Amino acid sequence: MDPEALVEVDVRAVSPEMLTAFVGADRAERWAQAAARARVRLDGRRVINVNSTASGGGVAELLQTLLAYARGVGIDARWLVVEGDAGYFEITKRIHNHLYGTPGDGGPLGAAERLHYEEVAARNVAGLRAVVRAGDIVILHDPQTAALALAELPSGVAILWRCHVGIDAQNEHSLRAWEFLRPYVEHVDAFVFSRAQFAPSWVTSDRLAVIPPSIDPFSAKNAHIEPDDVHRILQDVGLLSGGGTDAAQSFTRRDGSTGTVTAPVKMLGTGPPPSPTVPIVLQASRWDAMKDMRGVMTGFVDGVAVHTDAHLILAGPESKGVADDPEADEVLRECLETWGRLPDAARRRVHLASVPMNDGDEAATVVNALQRHATVVVQKSLAEGFGLTVSEAMWKARPVVGSRVGGIVDQIVSGETGWLVEAHDLDEYAQAVRSLLDDEVAARSMGAAGRERAAAEFLGDRHLEQWAQL
Ligand code: UDP
Repeated sequence: MDPEALVEVDVRAVSPEMLTAFVGADRAERWAQAAARARVRLDGRRVINVNSTASGGGVAELLQTLLAYARGVGIDARWLVVEGDAGYFEITKRIHNHLYGTPGDGGPLGAAERLHYEEVAARNVAGLRAVVRAGDIVILHDPQTAALALAELPSGVAILWRCHVGIDAQNEHSLRAWEFLRPYVEHVDAFVFSRAQFAPSWVTSDRLAVIPPSIDPFSAKNAHIEPDDVHRILQDVGLLSGGGTDAAQSFTRRDGSTGTVTAPVKMLGTGPPPSPTVPIVLQASRWDAMKDMRGVMTGFVDGVAVHTDAHLILAGPESKGVADDPEADEVLRECLETWGRLPDAARRRVHLASVPMNDGDEAATVVNALQRHATVVVQKSLAEGFGLTVSEAMWKARPVVGSRVGGIVDQIVSGETGWLVEAHDLDEYAQAVRSLLDDEVAARSMGAAGRERAAAEFLGDRHLEQWAQL
């Protein structure tokens, strides 16, 4: 590994004025003032974000959003990606699973793991030192970058650690992960969590900020798509049956250029795609055990498919597309096995889709179209830091059924924008999905309420203002 190899991700500035249409003049003005204050206080200092993947998953998604708006208001915000080998990402995924309160692969977090973790981190530190200048602000994201907090950096550099994962009540697994991480991060200048409950007890309140993420209404993931085009895109890539005669659908990339949706989505041998006229229940997530794709499937088969004509689509990024996620192949394999054991009739109603990630904006357009086409969007995670998919679906006026865990609770107002259900209660989940499939009027009004809530709480102005205050 090249010691100077931190990869910089290009982020195109987005003008905050574009948001005025959605947030109104007062909010836009408030934001402009917050941005002006932040510029004065930063006084030319750069804000350097470091994480472990440029695409796939929520952190990459939200960094694109946040940094684009920060750059749009004249803040020199940058994004670097650390490198690691398979062993490193196995260890960091174990820590990640532990922070979610689960044993993960059950492997150790002992002296050998610490040694390997620190060796890889040391090489990334060399890359970081080559970039950082006196006075910069360095924001390290998640366990993959925690050890970089000990780097000797030029004077006056502030180091913040932004942890995107956690559970509401610590347990033996999360405490084990915190024991591993504490020596690296305990002296950082500030901690940022999506929920206050996620912070371990040794993080004092004077160094703790709670800042939930946001979504970008102009990104390929969330930009408006006309309903006819939604069908065409999904037909073109093979997620819905029919179509295929029109010219390929175009989308706007982050850099402003135009792309077309052409790459087929792999249905992973799970049969012909559904017709555009059948109701779709969707969960779009990484192939991660915590997302409980299997539970979503079995709950749907037992409690939804038998009572309705809906189909379920489980969509995730092509597993090799997310560099820091070594468990994806295994989780996908288990899902396919479960699908293979379903009775014939049920199997035809459940589709597993693997969205190619070679072109991030094209992949985002496909997920966007899927979320817009879905009658009900599900996020039945067993633990969740925030769950951007919830706000993404709400922004598209979809009712969302989500589990009552982590950041999902902060997004769904149960009974108003969808339903919160117990994460392990498949009957309650199925019942909630059915109630929305059976009552079109309720589903539509909950979708509309979700859109309003996403606009009020989960757009970039609120998010950037909180960072500016910090
Ligand atoms: N996503 C994607 N392709 C997929 C499935 C999901 O790009 O096939 C996106 C999804 O739209 C969301 C992100 O991955 O923006 C997942 O973020 P979330 O916060 O929900 O979960 P995380 O992956 O961070 O655990």
